Amino acid sequence: KERAIIANIPLNRLQAGNLAGAINTINPNYAFNNWDSSRLVELPRDRLTLIQSIGKGAFGEVYMGYLIFDEETPEIAVAVKTLSAMPAQSSERDFTLEAIIMSQFDHENIVKLIGVCFQSNPRYIILELLEGGDMQTFLRENRPKTNASSQLTLYDLMQLAHNVASGCQYLENRHFVHRDVAARNCLLTTKDVDRIAKIADFGMARDIYHNDYYRKGGSAVLPVKWMPPEAFLDGIFSSKTDVWSFGIVLWEIFSLGFSPYPGKSNQEVMHVVRGGIRLDAPEHCPPSAYSLMKNCWDPDPKLRPSFEDILKSLNEIISKNKELLYSQITVKTKNLHSRTL
Ligand code: ADP
Repeated sequence: KERAIIANIPLNRLQAGNLAGAINTINPNYAFNNWDSSRLVELPRDRLTLIQSIGKGAFGEVYMGYLIFDEETPEIAVAVKTLSAMPAQSSERDFTLEAIIMSQFDHENIVKLIGVCFQSNPRYIILELLEGGDMQTFLRENRPKTNASSQLTLYDLMQLAHNVASGCQYLENRHFVHRDVAARNCLLTTKDVDRIAKIADFGMARDIYHNDYYRKGGSAVLPVKWMPPEAFLDGIFSSKTDVWSFGIVLWEIFSLGFSPYPGKSNQEVMHVVRGGIRLDAPEHCPPSAYSLMKNCWDPDPKLRPSFEDILKSLNEIISKNKELLYSQITVKTKNLHSRTL
């Protein structure tokens, strides 16, 4: 049977109301004060076929599956997040809120929510399938080897950075702070050259909304190494928090997936970052990209660039360094592979 992937279908066709047979009523139980639940599309469960598990989420298994969109269109590949059959009330609430948060967004660099099956168990959140997996794993898989350069060029890395920055700019314009922008939370449409990175995992924003951080163990679960001082010291979050995190993502991209501050505990990182210490430039990083990272890590949030500024800088780096960016990434130091992740 012919299978189609979601990329072949204009995403605007997948918006609320377009799906034949979709139940588009607002469930009054989804009332989360300022969140608009009207874009949550309840899909008929019998249009969905789950094929295989592709990951494990906080609520349960994540499956790859197919959704029959309408009679004329071939079925489309989707990712289905499941909530285990007998969920605690708080998990059910969090699962629903995650879907509501995702339903607010419509941008090519944000993972798209297609619909939900919430009217019976097991509950499903249905997302566009990103077949390339998470960006951190992808970067690690593409490190240069002693006898072979990386499959990726600096241009590919700049494209990934540009994709993530575009998604962040969209969130910034909507005054939405993601709070967990990190390579592990970005997914790729494909591993091939035409890959596009999209921001996923809105779990952190959801937990903050419920004050659940404190319930879940406070700073131990915070992504401290991606956070600016005003966030881990004073709990102040703004789009400039995401800008700092984006700087760390840039560093992750150009180091091909290294973990920032290897060997340091969260406590130590808070201490050194407060003292003004910053990550060194990754080995393959153009100086202009490192200088952008350092701007993102300004101790004063007001002095950090906006995502609009960041996109301008990335475009400038791309247009001014075409030759350099197409050069291959090779092993420069003999201990590249023995470094701690
Ligand atoms: P949670 O935030 O609930 O813990 P995630 O969103 O991180 O769960 O999902 C767990 C894993 O499932 C991810 O690491 C990824 O491998 C996979 N996954 C999640 N969403 C998608 C998607 N839209 N397309 C492809 N894989 C996905």
